[in-house]
Parts: sequence; structure tokens; C-alpha cells
Amino acid sequence: MGHRITLIPGDGIGPEITEVTRECIGAAGVDIDWEVRQAGECAIEKYGTPIPDETLKSIEENRICLKAPLTTPVGSGFRSVNVYIRQRFDLYVCLRPFKFYEGVRSRYSDLDMVVVRENMEDLYSGIEFERGKKETGELIEFIAKKTGKKIGNDSGISIKPLSVSNSERIVRFAFEYARKNRRRKVTAIHKANIMKFTDGLFLDVARKIAGEYTDIEFEDRIVDNMSMQLVQKPELYDVLVCPNLYGDILSDLCAGLVGGLGMSPGANIGEEIAVFEATHGSAPKYKGMNKVNPSALLLAGIMMLDYMGESEKAKKIEQALADVIREGKYVTYDFREPGSTDCVGTREMGQAIIRKIKEQ
Ligand code: NAD
Repeated sequence: MGHRITLIPGDGIGPEITEVTRECIGAAGVDIDWEVRQAGECAIEKYGTPIPDETLKSIEENRICLKAPLTTPVGSGFRSVNVYIRQRFDLYVCLRPFKFYEGVRSRYSDLDMVVVRENMEDLYSGIEFERGKKETGELIEFIAKKTGKKIGNDSGISIKPLSVSNSERIVRFAFEYARKNRRRKVTAIHKANIMKFTDGLFLDVARKIAGEYTDIEFEDRIVDNMSMQLVQKPELYDVLVCPNLYGDILSDLCAGLVGGLGMSPGANIGEEIAVFEATHGSAPKYKGMNKVNPSALLLAGIMMLDYMGESEKAKKIEQALADVIREGKYVTYDFREPGSTDCVGTREMGQAIIRKIKEQ
């Protein structure tokens, strides 16, 4: 029986890159019953919300979802539909692999790293106090009374909670991932020298969990130092495990090292449910233009196949994509120098990948 999977084609360039991904997965012979559901700006007209109940229900039932980028609708009441989905299904891991493919324009080669980012808390908890509000004043007063420290009355405040339980499960995930994927080292990222009770807690937990995985090397790095090291000698790193904010920033830095967001997939994973996505946005200016690079969503599809236990087929598609990029004949504009017209569209790059899959 085929796998039943929720497919969200999303907004902007989403439907075009979704089509390529779906066709490549089909060409590799994976039997998938795609349950297409709407989310994002395109859902608002029909459902009055960017995240309809039937989409949520479909994800809940199928437990695996492939999601193209969503435009965050202004004034919908949602800060971000993507963040909402992560919170709603407790998708506490954001897994972002960064791999260099020969033929991609990049300053580095031979990179193969993974960022494991905590997805639920830290400064993304959404607990914020607006400047000038009554409750903000009360909080400032409370803090002055308890700590003797004065926060200016014209301040806004964002809260950064980090818990032992969430830190434990994300660090454990990183070590399990490293073990399963034969990776040699886990590096925990923090700023524990300054934020002793949040990042310090994260570091303590990471050290404790590392003690259970003596087969895998462990080290920690302060986030500012890590940023420099990633630019100077990224080849020294393997799996990075980070609280939410540092994970967000370092993920984009790593994407830059391997050729940008067009090559950068991600997975949001919980105990039961996983949502796979391209990490770039919906690039509305290119909507319907058959222009953009389909690789990030296709790589997300490859991660999804691995997660489903279809690793052989995943490898087949990845090899076909790598061949197309290396040969450089049927690639989109972002593989070329700016201004070059020697490129093909999304669809043509997809067809070239399918030909390679079929040749194998
Ligand atoms: P974006 O990633 O959509 O686009 C920025 C630029 O990156 C594009 O103009 C284009 O030049 C380039 N680009 C993006 N994807 C590409 C691809 N596949 N191939 C080649 N070039 C590509 O970022 P943005 O313009 O800041 O955001 C547009 C919308 O997307 C916003 O509404 C934002 O909220 C949303 N967004 C969604 C997600 C998501 O669904 N995961 C992530 C980021 C942004």
C-alpha cells in the first residue's frame, strides 16, 4: 500500500516547485497517495484563515507533510503560519542539513553539516511586553523589586525561556541523529558566559546528555566564536545543536556557505509528526514565471523519503539532482553569474532530474 502524505503546495513559487518534487518522487518509484491541502495566503479566500482545520486534520492523520513556502498574510492574526504548525504539533526539532553539491556557486566545497535547532522556546516563545503598556510597566517594577536592576520605562521586553526538558530532548535528538547517520561530532552552541540561567542550563544539559554518548565526540562553542569559525574553517564541524535563536541565525549562515537558501531544505520533527519544507520563502515576485530553483523542496522531499524508510529511492533522487547540478546544463538562474541568460526554468530542471532518475 502507498504512503498517504499531506501535500501543501503553498503560495508564490510553491506550486511550481511542488510539482517538480512530486514528479521526481514519482519517477523514483515511490508510491505516494498525496492528500493536497491548502495553507497560507491562498487559503484565506476560500477558508477565511491561512491554516484551515481540514489541513491541520490531514497533517494530524497522515503524520507526514511536505510543505512548500507560505506567504505570511499581513494582518491575519498569525505571526507566522509556519510557526503555528510547529507549535500546534509540538515539532520540537528543526533539522537543517547543509551539503555542498559540485556545480553550486559557493566559496566552499566539500561541506556536509547539520544544524539541529530547538523549535519551541527561547526568544520565539512569543511572550512579549510592548513598550508603554501597563503590564510592561508592572513587569519593570517587579524586576526592579526582585533584582534591584532598573529597566528603562521606554523599553519593550521579550522573554527567553529555556527548559531542562526541551533542552534534553533536542540534545538527545542531535546525538541520536549523529549515531544513526554515522556523524563523528556534536557541537553545542550557547552564550552561557552571559546568560547563565538559560544558555548555562542548555550547556549543562548538553554536557550531561553527551556523557551518555561516549562514541560521539562532544564540544561546545560560544555562538559569536562559532559564527567566525564557521566562516573560517567550517570543515571542522559536523552536527551543531542550538537553542532556537542561534539555530535560526547559524542555519542561514550555513545555507550561505553551501550556495544559499535555494539549496537548503528543512524538517520540523516531533515525536509523532514531521513536516518537511524548503527553507526559503514564497518569492512572490517570481510566481508563475517558471524561474526558480526547485532543489530545496526536492531535498526536503528526499529527507522525507529517508524519514519514511525509503532511503534507497531517496539516494536515487539525490544522485540525479547532484548529476544535473554538476553537469550544469539544465540549471536555473541562481546557479549562474548574475545577469547570465544561459539557464533553464524550474520545469526544465525538473525534467532533467527525472531523466537522470530514469537512466539509473
Ligand atoms: P524569499 O525566500 O521568498 O525570497 C527572497 C529572494 O530569494 C527571492 O526574491 C529570490 O531572489 C530568492 N529565492 C527564494 N527562493 C528561491 C528559489 N527557490 N530559487 C531561486 N531563488 C530563490 O523571502 P522573502 O521575500 O523575504 O519572503 C516572501 C514571503 O515568504 C513572505 O511572506 C515570508 O513571510 C514568506 N516566507 C515563508 C517561509 C516558509 O514558508 N518556510 C520562509 C521564509 C519566508
